[in-house]
Order: sequence, then structure tokens, then C-alpha cells
Amino acid sequence: MEQAIEQATSVEALLKKRPLIISGPCSAETEEQVMQTAMRLAATGKVDIMRAGIWKPRTRPGSFEGIGTKGLPWLQAARKESGLPVAVEVATGKQVEDALHFGVDVLWIGARTTVNPFSVQEVADALRGVDVPVLIKNPINPDLELWIGAMERVAKAGIKNIGLIHRGFSSYGNTEYRNAPMWHLAIEMKRRYPELLMINDPSHICGRRDILQEVAQTAIDLDFDGLIIESHIDPDNAWSDAKQQITPEKLGEMISSIRWRKEDVASEEYHAALEKLRQQINNLDDELMQILSQRMKVAESIGKYKKDNNITILQTNRWNSILERAFAKGEKFGLSKEFVTKYFDAVHMESINHQNKIMNS
Ligand code: PEP
Ligand code: MN
Repeated sequence: MEQAIEQATSVEALLKKRPLIISGPCSAETEEQVMQTAMRLAATGKVDIMRAGIWKPRTRPGSFEGIGTKGLPWLQAARKESGLPVAVEVATGKQVEDALHFGVDVLWIGARTTVNPFSVQEVADALRGVDVPVLIKNPINPDLELWIGAMERVAKAGIKNIGLIHRGFSSYGNTEYRNAPMWHLAIEMKRRYPELLMINDPSHICGRRDILQEVAQTAIDLDFDGLIIESHIDPDNAWSDAKQQITPEKLGEMISSIRWRKEDVASEEYHAALEKLRQQINNLDDELMQILSQRMKVAESIGKYKKDNNITILQTNRWNSILERAFAKGEKFGLSKEFVTKYFDAVHMESINHQNKIMNS
């Protein structure tokens, strides 16, 4: 009893630590692996909580689907020996019960579960009346409402200590990332729920070791509260997610070489300089809006001519030539092709909407 109370209060305090660092294997594999990982992570002095997957939601059948409940006593032993609190992923009510029975300190809901309101509700129902921190990964698809919905279901079950994990979003085809970060979605969640812990999961965004550090750095530059990064005593031979895991020592080095940023500084000179530059940004943004509004007026005039002559709104040749010009100019002005594409898509769509109103009025 005494120990249980101590556990609850200290973990609550623990989640307030900044930066919060969680690390451990994608999956618990053997008792020895769990114990060694915990001891080596603790030895780095950089890790606050150890993670380990016990039940693994794998995309295809036939890959390692987790050691199951049998691994929970291993975590308990590793926790005792290393002093590191432990976190596991839960996807069903039974998994919640088992994890809590074996004294798991922090639970997280995985990306494949967040997408499914039935599963999230089942997990939430099992959490009723329990005081355990719950971290919620973003859903695999870029849908903020699902992420918010999962958070609300867990909150309604009475869980007070809720955090979010940004692990990127899946997309079709091979890209640089295993899961596209789409940072703007995490930024929007931070804007809407500034009080919630938001940590980044570079491992599942990258899917490979070589770019972990730069993604972790980006998250810290964006003022995330912490990181969850997979580590393994023998990464190449891990039973799941081998390509993205690193040794506990490498993890320690990575955390040491991240450039930690402060959110603010008490310097009048800094604030005055920033204020001046921000005023410039505001002025430029206002000008851009005015110019965009002028552009829409011109598009509307074109719409009137098209209407009078019964011509289609979309002229693919014209659109191609707009884009070609834009790419060339963009390069000259140091704007990335990705940005120019997104910007012109948005401007073009808005012009079409304005013309549509004219043509069908
Ligand atoms: C994991 O953390 O090992 C995992 C399965 O991640 P995700 O839910 O982000 O796919
Ligand atoms: Mn994994």
C-alpha cells in the first residue's frame, strides 16, 4: 500500500520533468534483455521512464506480436533493480488490468488504437477509478479530431494525468520518413491544449537510426516537452523495429548532444529586438493579405469574362504555366519547391472558389 502511494505521487511529479525522456525497447523480448536494457538506460542518467511493448499491434500477421502478460513481471523486476518507472502500450481492457496488476507506472495508447473509438472507449472504461498517467499517440491518419476524441474519452473516464505523443502519420509509398511528421498538426494540438504534455517519438517518425537526432532536435526547437525513443541492447537483432533502435549508450549520447532550448529569457534587449522584428512580420503579413485580396478580385474579373463566354474555370495549360513560373521565381527567392507547391495550390483553390461564385451566381 505504502509503495503504491509512493509510486502514484512520484510518477505524477515525474511527468512534470522537462525535458521528459522515455526510452526502452520497441518490445520486451526476454527477461535478460529487459533487465539489461533497464540497467544500461539507468546508467546513462538521461532517462526518466523506461518503455517496453508487451502487446504489439503489428501491421502484418506473422511478425512478433509481443511477449504478452508473461513479460510484465520482467518489467516489475527491472523497475525494482534500475529504479526506472515503466510504461507500456495498452489496447484492450484486459491489457489495462494486467498492466496495472503488475504495477506499470504509465500507460500509452498506440497510434493504431487511437484511430478506433471502440477500442479507446474500452481502454477508457477499464481506466475508470484508476489514478495512472496515460499518454495518447496521434492516430495513424492525419485527423486531429480522432486524437482529440481519444483524449476526451480518457479524460471522461476520470484520468487526470494525460499526455500526447506525436509519432507522425502514415502515407502511401516510400518517403524519407516511416511516418510523415506533419509538424503543423502537433503544433495545432499544442496550440489548442497548451496545458497537456506533448512529447515527440522520433523512432516511429524516422523508422531508421540515421535521422533520429535531427528529428529529435526539430521537436525540441518546436518546444516539445520531451522525447520517447526506442533503445535496445542489440538493435540489429531486435524482434521488432530493428532498423530504428539504438543502444542505451547511443541514446545517452544523443540526449547529451541535443541543443536544449529555453522558452524565454529575461533580457530586455532580446525582447525589444524580437518585438521590432515581429512588428515587421505583422506588417508583411498584412501586406500579403491585401495583395491576396487584390489577386482574388482579378480572378473574379476573369470569372466574369469566362461566364459571359461560357468557358471552364480550370484551364490546365494556364495552371501549368503559373506553376512553372512560380517554381523558377521561388528558386530565385530561396523558397522551397514544397512550399511553393502548397502555397500556389491554396491560392489557386481560393481563386477557383471565387470564380465559382461568380460563374454560378
Ligand atoms: C510502439 O511504440 O512501439 C508502437 C507500436 O508505436 P505506434 O503506436 O506509434 O505505431
Ligand atoms: Mn516500435
